[in-house]
Amino acid sequence: MLVSMKKMLADAKRSGYAVPAFDVSNYDMTKSVLEACEEERSPALLMCLGVDLGGRDMDLLSSMIISLSEHFDIPVCLHLDHATDFEEIKRAIDCGFSSVMYDGSVLDFDRNAENTAKVASYAHSRGITVEAELGHVGNGSVGSVSESGADADPGETLTVPREVAEFVRITDADALAVAIGTAHGVYKKTPELRIDRLDEITAVCDRPLVLHGGSGTPDSQMQTAIQHGITKINIYSDVVSAMNRGLKDKLNSAQNPAAWPFIVFGDARRMMKEVVKNKLRTFGSAGRV
Ligand SMILES: [Zn+2]
Repeated sequence: MLVSMKKMLADAKRSGYAVPAFDVSNYDMTKSVLEACEEERSPALLMCLGVDLGGRDMDLLSSMIISLSEHFDIPVCLHLDHATDFEEIKRAIDCGFSSVMYDGSVLDFDRNAENTAKVASYAHSRGITVEAELGHVGNGSVGSVSESGADADPGETLTVPREVAEFVRITDADALAVAIGTAHGVYKKTPELRIDRLDEITAVCDRPLVLHGGSGTPDSQMQTAIQHGITKINIYSDVVSAMNRGLKDKLNSAQNPAAWPFIVFGDARRMMKEVVKNKLRTFGSAGRV
């Protein structure tokens, strides 16, 4: 039985830690995250991205994740990451996701607020948590786009603190993703988080705050952000990089073209688990279950 993200983040906010949230696309990623969380006694926050959920893939991937979760003795939440389409959100809720993000961050304030409120009203009546985004977390080098697809200076799209209270009041979102200097994908230069901006947001917002683009952000900056109010940090590229590195090394050195998957994926799983455990300890969610 999946747990609600609202409850998971309320615990984190109360106790002053953050739950790392991991995007997963397949069996090996899901199992690695769940095993690492169970071994570290941390709640597990798994997410899926729309690129992996087309057609019947949403049913297939979510039912696999939900089934796997039942074998682990820790609270697990399944969250839909970065949905921009209401129909996709409805489908995800039907498939058993316990939490959804509606991402209207590229829209103007009024449209973003209006759409988020609509999603929240639908989701809340079904006991589902809603994350929204105000300001826009842009892209570094993201795996699905070329280098030239990177967004402009993130400084232009930071969350505006004076808009936050009004946005939460209109939307009733349970958690809010904020833009304070991080970016998705792999960084071209080390980010500098705007903790001053985060403080201004925390002062006017009672909802748990979410940091996207956690991969590649220095641990010390993320720990400072947690002390200043961040309670969920999204991680994708760090885990994918570990998986790809493990697979690449193994495949390059394999003598047998039909090397068995348990051998080919062995290092990738071990390396993903190391990355996940490191985040759990760094963000303080280890030992909370
Ligand atoms: Zn994101």
